[in-house]
Amino acid sequence: MRTPTELAQVFREKQLKLTPQRQLLFNLLHDNESHPTAESLFEIASKQMPGISLRTIYQTLGELAEMKELQLVDIGNGATRFDPNMSEHQHFVCDSCGAIHDVDITSAPKLRAGSADGFAVEEIGVVFRGRCGRCNQGDQSRQTTKRSPGLQAKNKAS
Ligand SMILES: [Zn+2]
Ligand SMILES: [Zn+2]
Repeated sequence: MRTPTELAQVFREKQLKLTPQRQLLFNLLHDNESHPTAESLFEIASKQMPGISLRTIYQTLGELAEMKELQLVDIGNGATRFDPNMSEHQHFVCDSCGAIHDVDITSAPKLRAGSADGFAVEEIGVVFRGRCGRCNQGDQSRQTTKRSPGLQAKNKAS
């Protein structure tokens, strides 16, 4: 995605509506690696600009997607995510917290759609699933806190 300033320029040139609300969205999306949903953007935007409508968010996202400034990411759990990173990449999804991270695949996976006779495959999407670094760490600290009361009890008993 282009910078908010460049986008404002493009919107002006295309004579698209350029409002402070839209410019706020450009700012929120620029360098945003969290793959937000329209609703989560709405939530954040509302805090900074009360009164902004979900409709404006959808409209702006739609326009940016049409202009190829954003891509839509569907990781199969319903909500469409928006990704300003237009370079070719895949996604890692944390099953624990739902965070989505960009993953670069250096070589294209050699997959062939076995039963896809007559299908023209244009793109292969890979979603990695597991637990993100934060959730992995959280698990480890939970284990230690779980262990310590047990240790204390044991000490008391002896
Ligand atoms: Zn996680
Ligand atoms: Zn991404």
